[in-house]
Amino acid sequence: MHYEGNIIRPPSEANSILLQATVGCSRNKCTFCGSYRGERFQIKSDEIIFEDIDFATRHCRRQRRLFICDGDALIIPQARLLAILERIETRLPWVTRVGLYANVKSIRMKTLAELRELHAHGLGIAYMGLETGDDATLAAIDKGTTAAAAIEMGQKIRSAGIKLSITVLLGIAGRERSAIHARETGRVLSAIDPEYVGALSLMLIPGTPLCRDHEAGEFPLLGPEEMLRELRTMISCTNLSRGQFHANHASNYLPIKARLPRDKQDTLDTIDAALAGRIQLRPEFLRGL
Ligand code: SF4
Repeated sequence: MHYEGNIIRPPSEANSILLQATVGCSRNKCTFCGSYRGERFQIKSDEIIFEDIDFATRHCRRQRRLFICDGDALIIPQARLLAILERIETRLPWVTRVGLYANVKSIRMKTLAELRELHAHGLGIAYMGLETGDDATLAAIDKGTTAAAAIEMGQKIRSAGIKLSITVLLGIAGRERSAIHARETGRVLSAIDPEYVGALSLMLIPGTPLCRDHEAGEFPLLGPEEMLRELRTMISCTNLSRGQFHANHASNYLPIKARLPRDKQDTLDTIDAALAGRIQLRPEFLRGL
């Protein structure tokens, strides 16, 4: 496989074939993100991508899922992305689901009919970093979108039949807007109603603008209890018709795996028990990204 730069994939794609079709992220501006700093975004040549699919034909016969890396592979022009999916269909017929990262801009660039066409050719799941549903925080972190646009594009992906997994970031609003961030994120998640939500806890990456703000005393990092309170508010404001809300990433202080709406009250009770000191939190040295 021809891998270049940082290869990043969602935790749930750990066992997937990783096909790198783009290098970096077309936005590369979010103030907290160090994933692709210094990497120039590019779409790899069809020749290299197809060679890697052929490599997978020979060497990845047991992997049933495939993830198209990197940052936001949905931005690949429709004809090229379709050709990649068709090649996967013919050369890797045992693959049952293809996933990729998407963002508001790349979803907007596809029509609903085009998204349906991608779904018909195997695109089963898109992962979208929402981070927050609070417009002021979205602007502060330079996410390049608004809550309304995220709702519209999230609903568009879902109406194309593609499953949606959304990531949100505890602590990203700092202290003053913590409660607003939690409530607004719950509101946006409820409006999109995705199949999966993953809540991560903010960890500052050296060299990022947000880390520099923190070092300059301009951005406070929330403590474990504040993060938990934020998570509690967020979950209590999130109404999914049938979705999973996970906060079991290594960055989180308290691992949570909830199916909503079924587990909502139990989850809130668990968080309350942790806030009351009856459940031990993950120690700082065991947290990671
Ligand atoms: S958070 Fe996502 S969209 Fe923003 S720079 Fe990082 S990879 Fe790109």
